Amino acid sequence: MEDPLGMQPEAMRQLGYRTVDFLVDLLADPRAVPATRGASPREMARRIDATQPAMAQDFESILDDLGRNVLPFASRCDHPGYFAFVPGSGTWPGALGDLIAGALNIYAGSWQESAGPSQVELVVLDWFKQWIGYPPQAAGVLVSGGSAANMTALACAREARLGAMSDRAVAYISDQAHSSMVRAARVLGFRPDQVRVLPVDDDFRMRPDTLVPAMAADRLAGRRPLFVAASAGSTNTGAVDPLSELAAVCRDENVWFHVDAAYGGFAALTERGRGWLSGIEAADSVTLDPHKWLYQPFECGSLLVRDGDLLRRAFEITPDYLKDAQAAAGEVNFADLSIQLTRMSRAVKLWVSLRYFGIDAFRATVDRCLDLVHQAQERIEASADLELLRPASLGILCFRRSFADTDDEDEIARRNAALVAAFAGTGLGLVSSTRLRGRYAIRLCVLNHGSGPDDIERVLHWFETSTPHPVPPAARRVLAQERHMPVDRTWLGYPPVAVATLRALPLFAELTDDDLERVGRAAEVRVAPAGEEVVRRWDAARDFYVIIDGTLAVHVESRHVRDLGAGDFFGELAALDWGASFGYARLATVTATSDALLLMLPGATLNDLVREFPDVETQIRHAVADRLPQS
Ligand SMILES: *Cc1c(COP(=O)(O)O)cnc(C)c1O
Repeated sequence: MEDPLGMQPEAMRQLGYRTVDFLVDLLADPRAVPATRGASPREMARRIDATQPAMAQDFESILDDLGRNVLPFASRCDHPGYFAFVPGSGTWPGALGDLIAGALNIYAGSWQESAGPSQVELVVLDWFKQWIGYPPQAAGVLVSGGSAANMTALACAREARLGAMSDRAVAYISDQAHSSMVRAARVLGFRPDQVRVLPVDDDFRMRPDTLVPAMAADRLAGRRPLFVAASAGSTNTGAVDPLSELAAVCRDENVWFHVDAAYGGFAALTERGRGWLSGIEAADSVTLDPHKWLYQPFECGSLLVRDGDLLRRAFEITPDYLKDAQAAAGEVNFADLSIQLTRMSRAVKLWVSLRYFGIDAFRATVDRCLDLVHQAQERIEASADLELLRPASLGILCFRRSFADTDDEDEIARRNAALVAAFAGTGLGLVSSTRLRGRYAIRLCVLNHGSGPDDIERVLHWFETSTPHPVPPAARRVLAQERHMPVDRTWLGYPPVAVATLRALPLFAELTDDDLERVGRAAEVRVAPAGEEVVRRWDAARDFYVIIDGTLAVHVESRHVRDLGAGDFFGELAALDWGASFGYARLATVTATSDALLLMLPGATLNDLVREFPDVETQIRHAVADRLPQS
C-alpha cells in the first residue's frame, strides 16, 4: 500500500537535521534580530501566497519562505531586550520536548492510553505542588495557559460550591485582576451584576476591608458570594494581594479562594519569592503558567486544586464510548480534569527541560531576574529624567520619562506613548504601557533568561535621552452607532431631555447638537428630594448621573468625602466597563443635601461617550484618578 503522507527514514533525518540547523541559526544570536517587526495586512498578503498548494513543494523552498516572509514578522518574545507584556523565553530542550510529544502524537488524556506520559505529568505537577506548599491530595492539570486555567478554576469552584449556574452567584476580583478572569466569568454565564470589581489599596493590592462589606451587602440583597480571585503577581504592577488575610476571609465566608499566580507563581522557587507568596498554600486553587517564568515553550499553563477530588468531580464525564478508558483506582485520566479530551503531553517538555538543566538552574535564573529588576529600579531612582511609578515586584516595575517643562498628565502621557512607540521601531527591545490610577506608565517585565544588565541599561538609557515626537490627539470622532434604547426610556416612558439642558453641562462641552440629541434620548431627568440616597455604597446599580441643579454629598462609610453641585457628575466608577461589561459596585453613598435635579444615563451610554469623545474621556479619567483612592 502506498501512503502518500508517509516518509522514508533517511528523508525524515534529512528534514530534521535541516530544520535543526535552520532553528539554531535563528536562535544563536538573539540580539541580532529586532525584538519586534510589524507589517500591514497588505504587506503580509503580498508576502504570503494564498494559493492552495495542490502539489508537493520542495522543503528548502518552504523553509526559505518561512525565513524570509513569515518568521521576521513575529515578535521575538525571547529577545533579551523584550520587557513588554509578559515575555516568554523557552529553552532548546523544552522545544525538543514539544517535538517529541508532537512527533509521536502522544495522547495524554487517559491512563490506559498513556500511563507513561500521565505519570510524567503527575510527577511534574507534584513538583509544582511542593514549590507552592500544597498538600499531596491536591490535583493539577496542564492546560494551554493562564486563561484556560482561570476558567477551569471558576468552573470547578461553581460546580463544587453551587452546582448549576445561578443568577445569585457573585465573583469578586480587584481592578488589577487579569482580563482572563472576567472573560472566564462571562463565558461561564456570569452577568454584569454578578462580578464585583473591587478597588485596591495604595500598593495596588486587594483590600480585605472592602471585600468583607461587599460580600455582606450581597448576602443582604439575597446574593451568594461564590468566588474570590486574588493575584499573586498582578499583570500591571506585579503586586501580590494579601493572600493569608484573604484566605481567612474566604474560609469564614465559605467562599472559594483562587489565586491567579500565572506569571508570578514560579518565584516560589526562590527564597525571596516564597516569602512574597506566603499564603498561596491556603488557596483552594492556583493558576501557574510554566510558559512564563518556568521557561517552557508556548503553550503551557496549569491549574492546581487543593482538594483534588473536586477538580475531577467538576469535569469527569464517562459516556459509553469511553468506558474502556475509565480510570481504575490509583490511575488518573487527565481528560477528566479539564475541558480537553484529546490533549497533547505538555508534561514531556517540562520533564525534559527541568531534568536537562536541573531545577537549580531555573531557580538561579528566576533569582537573577529579581536582581535585574531591582537594579533597574535603582537606575531609575538615580536618574533625573526618569520617574519610578511602582517599585519592583515579582519582576515588574513601572516608570516613565519626566519632563522639566510640563507636569500636565495628558501631555506627559502623550510624550511617553510616543517614546514607547518609537522604541519598538529601534528593534533594540520592546516595552509596553499601562495606566496606574489613570497615570500613564511604562512597564518593564524582566523575565527572559537571556536578559542581562546591559539590556536593561540600553532600554533605560534610550528612554532617558530620546526626544519624543507625540502625534496630535486623534481627530474628533462621532458616535459610532445608535444603540437600541430600552423601550421604557423612549416612547413609553420619558420624553427626550432637551438639548439646551444638556448644553449647559461642562461634561458635554465637546458634543454637537446632534450628539446631544442622541444623548438626550438615552437620558432621563429625575428629581431627588433633599435627604434621598441616590446611590448607596455596594449597590449593584450602574447608572451615571450629572447634576443639573442642587447639591449632594458623598460619603464613604461615615467619612464625608466631597460635596457636589450643578455640572458635577457621579456614578462613573460603577458605570464604566472594566471588562466584559463588569464594573465596580457603588463605592460611595451619594445623598441629596438640597432638592436636586439629576440627569441619569445608563452605564452603556457613558461608555459610548468615553469611547467617542476624547474630552469626556479625559474628564472621566481625571475623576476616576481622584476619587478611586478615596474609596
Ligand atoms: C498571563 C496571565 C494570564 C493569562 O495567561 P495566558 O497564558 O496568557 O492565557 C492570567 N493571569 C495573569 C496574572 C497573567 O500574568
